[in-house]
Amino acid sequence: MIHTIPAFDRLGEENAFAVLARATALAGQGRDIVNLGIGQPDFRTPEHIVEAAIKALRDGHHGYTPATGLAATREAVVRRTLATTGVEVSPDNVMILPGGKPTMFAAILMFGEAGADILYPDPGFPIYRSMIEFTGARPVPVPIREENGFAFSADETLALITPTTRLLILNSPANPTGGVTPRTEIEKLVKGLERHPHVAILSDEIYDVMTYDGERHCSLLTFPEIRDRLIVLNGWSKTWAMTGWRMGWSIWPNGDKGAHLYDKVRKLAVNCWSCVNAPSQYAGIAAIDGPQDEVAAMMRAFDRRRKLVVEGLNALPGISCITPKGAFYAFPNISGTGWKAKKLASALLEEAGVALIGGPDFGVLGEGYMRLSYANSEDNIARALQRIGDFLIANA
Ligand code: PLP
Repeated sequence: MIHTIPAFDRLGEENAFAVLARATALAGQGRDIVNLGIGQPDFRTPEHIVEAAIKALRDGHHGYTPATGLAATREAVVRRTLATTGVEVSPDNVMILPGGKPTMFAAILMFGEAGADILYPDPGFPIYRSMIEFTGARPVPVPIREENGFAFSADETLALITPTTRLLILNSPANPTGGVTPRTEIEKLVKGLERHPHVAILSDEIYDVMTYDGERHCSLLTFPEIRDRLIVLNGWSKTWAMTGWRMGWSIWPNGDKGAHLYDKVRKLAVNCWSCVNAPSQYAGIAAIDGPQDEVAAMMRAFDRRRKLVVEGLNALPGISCITPKGAFYAFPNISGTGWKAKKLASALLEEAGVALIGGPDFGVLGEGYMRLSYANSEDNIARALQRIGDFLIANA
């Protein structure tokens, strides 16, 4: 065996990809599978965005761009940030990366090492914990509770901070729960963080505009008192249905305290990926500056499906589901079914032809829950709910 460093054995997975692979394999054998597993919009990227990439290729944009991204793409992110948060950031703090994940990777790598603690949401996006463990830092789960509407609690979060805490990861609207943390709770958290100036913050805001029922996302950028230690993760994947384009952005700290982080992420880019492919960066500008009617139509479709999923789940025996306020996930409580979540998810895929993800794939507090992505048609959602109901009754 060739020796590799132990860190690689600590890397985790995103089980959604394994479920997708299994669902595809089953479908390949002729099985009819409804996929509510994968977290990506089922819509095509709007045509004017595709056209912008084609034009960029035809115009000869085939080479490297600056490692931090094209100036025009960073300027577009500045405009978009002003429009959604009211905050004017400098393009010198904006970084364009190949997706949302590389910001996570960069930020966790910058702060994680043996002896350091990193706080992350549980249940939460599984890559946070995986990357924290990769660095040798201690992952400290911040409980995200159903009784709290799956918002994070400022008090509970602050109580976990110690002198060895380096980084606090926040995510709202959240994967896998659809929870949106209210502004009042974030205000309380920010106030408390003033007592802990050694803690950097990574706010994953990739679902920022994906909210419902008039709910508004509260960006951490709107708190100038933490801007010098705040990294905001965002990107094109979800909002404009561009997961395969690998386009993300992040906003890095300003001020004496944190400005040096930007040069570090730039160097990481130079060492790892050089830059994001040029045509995608032109497409990214078109996404931000172009018409947003298709985004609005996508959100209306998600909203209809959200209601269908929640209503359907609550009608099933042993299942209850609070109404998610953001993203495109429902996180039903299945403890009344008597099933362990991963066992039920696996049985539903193999026996009922419904792909979804067991809650424990998102953390220890995920036991007793499952994640359904409602990025699928209303017909398919109705079929999936029917199949889950039939399965639960047949196996009661
Ligand atoms: N952050 C959260 C909370 C996510 O759910 C996802 C994708 O599922 C990402 C980041 C990563 O996005 P990307 O595909 O752009 O890397």
